[in-house]
Amino acid sequence: MSTRRDFLASAGTTLAAAALLPLVRSAAFAADAPAPASDKKMGWALVGIGKLTLGQILPALANVQKSKLVALVTGHPDKAKPIVAKFNLNPANVYNYDTYDKLADNPDVDIIYIVLPNGMHAEYTIRGLKAGKHVLCEKPMANTSAECQQMIDAAKSTGKKLMIAYRCHFDPYNLKAIDICRTQQLGKPRLIVTDHCFHLADANAWRLNKKLAGGGALLDVGIYGLNATRYLSGEEPVSITAQLIENPDDPRFKEVEEGVVWTMRFPSGCLATCTTSYNAAGVNRCRVFCEKGQIDMEPATGYHGIKMRTGTTPITFPDMDQFAAEMDHLSECAMSGKDPLTPGEEGLKDLRIMEAIYESARGGKTIDLS
Ligand code: NAD
Repeated sequence: MSTRRDFLASAGTTLAAAALLPLVRSAAFAADAPAPASDKKMGWALVGIGKLTLGQILPALANVQKSKLVALVTGHPDKAKPIVAKFNLNPANVYNYDTYDKLADNPDVDIIYIVLPNGMHAEYTIRGLKAGKHVLCEKPMANTSAECQQMIDAAKSTGKKLMIAYRCHFDPYNLKAIDICRTQQLGKPRLIVTDHCFHLADANAWRLNKKLAGGGALLDVGIYGLNATRYLSGEEPVSITAQLIENPDDPRFKEVEEGVVWTMRFPSGCLATCTTSYNAAGVNRCRVFCEKGQIDMEPATGYHGIKMRTGTTPITFPDMDQFAAEMDHLSECAMSGKDPLTPGEEGLKDLRIMEAIYESARGGKTIDLS
């Protein structure tokens, strides 16, 4: 049985994020390159000590150059203890959800990383911005586009940076695929196919609770395929047709959808067809059919171990740490004043499209976004 862990399979060794930065700078969508390096490090507060924090973000802190962990926010002090010891944190820098706003008084904290269930992203991002801190918020940005807009407005009114944690924008394989598409090395992209599925067995998971998750597989992992179609095509969809995979007899899917299949048309005529499911064998795949060849990636959006080929030719890069790269990117933006590569507006675009996907599926009609 494939789990979420398999879906985002991790493998291989981790290299310093520095190895990636030249790729980020040369990426087609990375025009706004960060300022030159300095020795300064931004202080980070992690909010939520769940699987992603424990499995990926804390280990990534060994690979950062511009960032350091200085504070934690958790409802479980016992979870904080070993982290405080390992990272030699000031015990006074462990907050809970009631004392969260007191981060405003802590000059050690420059940036807050929101790693909470989706339904808490908007509230904790806005409170973090109002505390005078920059914010990195996990995907999906929020449950609704209206919340996304409130988060963007809060960033504007406080003058703080808001970045959404789209780690694939820092991954060399996905950046290479973008480069191949933009430079039309295989001709123009005409069809993009993405599949992001895994088997979610735990019927009590917050991912199955509408208030905490916002939606089902689409908001959780379908978002990787959706975001990929946008960065690979370099376009925004103009029409969407979708169908939900539903199963009213399965107690897991009372509040959120089991899966979605959707098709999007882009202004160039390129089509995308995407699948996502919580009730299927694990798959994490992206294929771009260009006029003169194909780009295949499987896994396409994992933490590590991405496999890529064009036709029969494999393309490989050294392993790297996407989380370290995105954290250091926001640290650099905070220091230099530049805007992050994946700002709130990027998260808002995906939420608007996902809302159109649900509208299409529920109304049984094509949604015109042009
Ligand atoms: P998780 O369930 O493992 O952790 C959630 C954390 O939130 C826990 O520390 C939990 O104690 C805390 N929490 C606070 N209030 C809660 C409540 N009412 N209900 C449940 N938990 C509560 O989840 P996760 O897999 O770490 O995901 C956290 C966020 O990170 C989600 O938004 C998810 O979409 C995102 N995520 C991103 C990636 C990525 O690759 N970028 C991968 C996995 C998860």
